[in-house]
Amino acid sequence: QVPLKPGRSLMDWIRLTKSGKDLTGLKGRLMEVTEDELAKHNKKEDCWICIRGFVYNVTPYMEYHPGGEDELMKAAGTDGTDLFDQVHRWVNYESMLKECLVGRMSAKPIAAPKVNISLHPCPFQHSSFIQKTSKFQNSSITKSSLKTSCLLENKCVSKMCFLNYFFSLLLLSYDWFQTDSLITIVIYTKQKGMNAELVIADCQDKRLRGEIIMDDHSYLVEVDLDHPVQEDMAVNIAEKVGKVEITLKKKDNIHWKMLGQPLESHNTFKKCTDRGLFYRKCKLVSKTEVTHDTKLFCLMLPKSTHLHVPKGRHVYLKQIIAGTEIVKPYTPVLPFLPLNFKEPSHHEGARIYLMIKIYSCGLFTQALDHLQIGDYVSVSNPEGNFKKTQIQTSEDVFLLAAGTGFTPMVKLLDFALSEVSCLRTLKLIFFNKTEDDILWRNQLEELALKDKRFEVQFILSQPTKGWLGKQGKISSSLLSEFVKRSKKDSKVLICICGPAPFTEQGVQYLKDLGYSQEEIHAFTA
Ligand code: FAD
Ligand code: NAP
Repeated sequence: QVPLKPGRSLMDWIRLTKSGKDLTGLKGRLMEVTEDELAKHNKKEDCWICIRGFVYNVTPYMEYHPGGEDELMKAAGTDGTDLFDQVHRWVNYESMLKECLVGRMSAKPIAAPKVNISLHPCPFQHSSFIQKTSKFQNSSITKSSLKTSCLLENKCVSKMCFLNYFFSLLLLSYDWFQTDSLITIVIYTKQKGMNAELVIADCQDKRLRGEIIMDDHSYLVEVDLDHPVQEDMAVNIAEKVGKVEITLKKKDNIHWKMLGQPLESHNTFKKCTDRGLFYRKCKLVSKTEVTHDTKLFCLMLPKSTHLHVPKGRHVYLKQIIAGTEIVKPYTPVLPFLPLNFKEPSHHEGARIYLMIKIYSCGLFTQALDHLQIGDYVSVSNPEGNFKKTQIQTSEDVFLLAAGTGFTPMVKLLDFALSEVSCLRTLKLIFFNKTEDDILWRNQLEELALKDKRFEVQFILSQPTKGWLGKQGKISSSLLSEFVKRSKKDSKVLICICGPAPFTEQGVQYLKDLGYSQEEIHAFTA
């Protein structure tokens, strides 16, 4: 992020897009853009970028880009889709840049294929390939013949990629059955240790979407159901055999001849990042004060959604602000810190709790703060790269948090203290400006008193006179004082989260102190 000039905030951009000004310079005309034409517009004062086949004139957006002009210029006059996906796949550019749309890229001439035409860049995502492989699950077709059929589609496929895909599809399948009142979809993953966090299911307006997460890939069942169903949905998981059952209640007790029409991504196995973000509308059920500027928002998932956000992962919230779809990431927390581990402390799954700082000039957080109880906000599937296994075998865990960078630490604290049997020490080093900014201070102090393994250290950068605790900013000397192994070779995990420069500096100091990359997890976008 770079500091933007005054009058160049996201809200200012939205205002400009609504002003009726001709932002493309084409007087509302849309054109077909060739690669040569696109390449000509590669200067700051004349910059076009292609994203997913659509070309935008981003010249007027330059000064409003939170990542700075230079970042945007990296894609000037070219196809910026990959760059865009790497940095902010979640940003709704279609809505933000709709007034900058120049037109579509013209289709490239395709060499006449020998056998079968495939418009998809990767045959694994090609529906005819998927159908073939799915069909092959019950036949005696060999790997080599399948590979040949794939190569016949004139595509270059790496052997590993092919085999991974092939075996995954062989293992994955689905089936469905019905009773008078119920429809049950069964997904066979054959994956041991299948659990609630790995299943995301939604049924909205007759559309059923069931996604099974397998590392960084996912398998999707996505069908337009043949008949309407009730709002309730049940998901049952047989963890040992990896069988997932999604049960829906029929609206009318009639016999279904078929489950429904498959949608485009039905029965596919893809990298999760290659799937678009999926949202469902959640109801705001409560909003409580945590500090003078931070609130705990409780959102209720629809009855027809099964979603458990894994620890260390975030979701995206989407709101329409002044007619433009705006998306921002937030990290779910628990409703409170688990001071008594024996009691089930929260509505597992049905609610999402978000601790959100309301910035006085913040576009998204101001809109969130104005939501009334009962209003709806769209919540995406989880994203992020933290893996539970990183903490499961750790003996010493250090959590370095600044401000709302505390949010991913909440579930980690809970998990480490309640489920990591080898844990010896857990230390939270919490950086804030003033005492009033400390989130859940009493709860953290109470937890430290209750559990000998847990210690919390508050460090203030702008303390008032009476502050007797530590003062300062993240630094090498501060970290060397607080981050120490409990024994010489203990297995350590250090998690860090806060403003981007805080996180970057912290990681560098930790490396300078001799901690390895594997021992550090930095939470970023
Ligand atoms: P904007 O309109 O973007 O900015 C307005 C002003 O607010 C800025 O000029 C600046 O003064 C201030 N400001 C805005 N954003 C930041 C920032 N990130 N750091 C410092 N100052 C800022 N926030 C939470 O409160 N809780 C969370 O759980 C949470 N989880 C996140 C998870 C991830 C992966 C990431 C990347 C960010 C997370 N954030 C979280 C930050 C959040 O996504 C937004 O950036 C934040 O809510 C501000 O949005 P806004 O539109 O209100 O502010
Ligand atoms: P804040 O109150 O502004 O700052 C918290 C503490 O961090 C203060 O002591 C502050 O010191 C210090 N700090 C701020 N910038 C620093 C820098 N450049 N170098 C060193 N120390 C710095 O924080 P906030 O408003 O709550 O913001 C929290 C941040 O965490 C946001 O940027 C948010 O996006 C991020 N976040 C990320 C994730 C994720 O998963 N990636 C999750 C949640 C939150 P000063 O007094 O010097 O400012």
